[in-house]
Amino acid sequence: MADATLVLKGGRVVDEAGSRDADVAIAADGTIAAVGPGLDGGRVLDCSGCVVGPGLVDLHSHLRQPGLEEAETIETGSRAAALGGYTAVVAMPNTTPAIDSAGVVREVLELARTALCDVHPAGAITKERAGTELAPMAEMAALGVRLFTDDGAGVQDSRLMRRALEYASALGVTLAQHCEDAGLSTGGYMHEGEWSSRLGIPGQPAEAEELMVARDIALCRLTKAPVHFLHLSTAGSVALVRAARAEGLPVTAEAAPHHFTLTDAAVATYDPVFKVHPPLRTDVDVAAVKAGLTDGTIDAIATDHAPHTLESKEAAFDEAPPGMIGLETALPLALGELGLPIEAVLGLLSWRPARIAGLADAHGGPVVEGRRANLCVIDPAATWVVDAAAMASRSRNTPYAGRKVTGRVRHTLLRGEPVVVDAEAQR
Ligand SMILES: [Zn+2]
Ligand SMILES: [Zn+2]
Repeated sequence: MADATLVLKGGRVVDEAGSRDADVAIAADGTIAAVGPGLDGGRVLDCSGCVVGPGLVDLHSHLRQPGLEEAETIETGSRAAALGGYTAVVAMPNTTPAIDSAGVVREVLELARTALCDVHPAGAITKERAGTELAPMAEMAALGVRLFTDDGAGVQDSRLMRRALEYASALGVTLAQHCEDAGLSTGGYMHEGEWSSRLGIPGQPAEAEELMVARDIALCRLTKAPVHFLHLSTAGSVALVRAARAEGLPVTAEAAPHHFTLTDAAVATYDPVFKVHPPLRTDVDVAAVKAGLTDGTIDAIATDHAPHTLESKEAAFDEAPPGMIGLETALPLALGELGLPIEAVLGLLSWRPARIAGLADAHGGPVVEGRRANLCVIDPAATWVVDAAAMASRSRNTPYAGRKVTGRVRHTLLRGEPVVVDAEAQR
């Protein structure tokens, strides 16, 4: 083996191939030098009682830069990600300006050079995410962009979406859709149902999401181009995707932790921390999202990490911006709420999203000699209480403050560099 500079000692290695007790030695070039028993050399990080796995990959983070640096920056967002066990995140393009050209992609990549995780910008499907004219996807794809989305809005025009799919297919990239039929959802601030009537808050019906899921499945059938569904939230959406996959269509899907841990009943406090798009749904929907994650219909857990300043989230429920932060809590919520073994949870958080994002060469892969050391070390038994004030994100809008959770990231390694040690960011 090459000389080790660092040894992850005493852990259980878990990757797609299974699990085994082994130490992991890291070489000076940031690759894995050896995996096996009794390794020594260099600095030792204690991994006893822990799982050593490939780093987590978030398909869906809002890092707010450029344009909304008071809510988050790529640096603070990447620090939150590293603390959450992530070694790569896809940054959504609803920034100001939108990530809709090579120039903005270059700006984000430059800002990300010193980040604590790999940051991969998603490009917009349409110019300024306005939904009227295709963005220059080819010039963004040439810079390595693999996922395109107008997230924050769905592409409403079916003809334009069809053209975007044909264009994406030719470029070998994937379109990711925020499924929301604006005609049905406009003017609604929460899920339309029993709770919206009780609270007197106008709602968005589940059908606003499901109509676009159904349309895009039809367009996928027509074009054969891959479609990724962002943050699925309804039982109907999960059923549509399940049927599409049974048909063999190239569709993939993700769900966010808040859609399998919270329901629309939480809105009864009128606290805008519970305002999110798509909205929190019913317990039937939560059960369907969990079932979809369990049976593989939903490929990945993505955070939809959406930081907002205290000031903006203190507005009235209808006026506050939608979204909640999620990078530092996704793993314990998945471990605690899904009832799945850690191997399955890592599949949802690491290797399956890495493949959808086109990052499998560097992230989510097997923990074997020669691979880049993008790793996270998880203590599955550690319990802790979510403290909003202690988070690395520049924003505090988490609905989980005060919740006791189980499972904590002990160490995170980015290209062999320990960026988190003993649950503390190193820079
Ligand atoms: Zn969205
Ligand atoms: Zn989003």
